[in-house]
Amino acid sequence: MAQDAQRRMPGLCDYYRSCSTYSLVERAFDIDVRRWSRRGLLVLGTTFLCHWLTEEDRTATLKVRVESDDQVRLIYRVRMPRKRWQQLERTVSIVWDSCRYGGRRPWLICPNCGQSMAVLYLGGASPIAFCCRQCAGLKYTSQHGGARLRSMRKAQKIRRQLGGSELLLEPFLDKPQAMRLRRYLRLRETAERIEEEWFRRFRAPV
Ligand SMILES: [Zn+2]
Repeated sequence: MAQDAQRRMPGLCDYYRSCSTYSLVERAFDIDVRRWSRRGLLVLGTTFLCHWLTEEDRTATLKVRVESDDQVRLIYRVRMPRKRWQQLERTVSIVWDSCRYGGRRPWLICPNCGQSMAVLYLGGASPIAFCCRQCAGLKYTSQHGGARLRSMRKAQKIRRQLGGSELLLEPFLDKPQAMRLRRYLRLRETAERIEEEWFRRFRAPV
């Protein structure tokens, strides 16, 4: 990546105009290691960008550098109320699980509490560093109707069938013992597709 690209990188979050008063998951900036893994981005030496659309229709950008099998560096800018933009670099550890049916599954380690999470957030009580939903004090909102609610309910129904948490951002459980593998994989794939669509349409990362 060219040097000047980094200098021109738009800030991740202008708190003065957007995040300072928000404590909703939907309004925080999220990084999802499962998405990175599915897209084949977790390769040593790779640098890639994550983009979000802010409520003002601006693009917020975060740069991720894969420094090793178990560490990524996040490079971003934030601005707090009445302060200048701050250029920040934080490393986040990754741990890998073996999946029961082969392959590995990555988790991000919350720098605050040390728990393994699929998703970390910038926002709420953690305006400078990415951490887990609990540490950031972020809550889900149920104030959205129409298509958003319908697609969310569809994904939640599948999660219930799999015996897991209804929260769309929580990791999937392994296959229930009584369920056939093919059915499990089909349900899981369907839910992941709906959830991807849900995030794409209603939440942000583009
Ligand atoms: Zn945490």
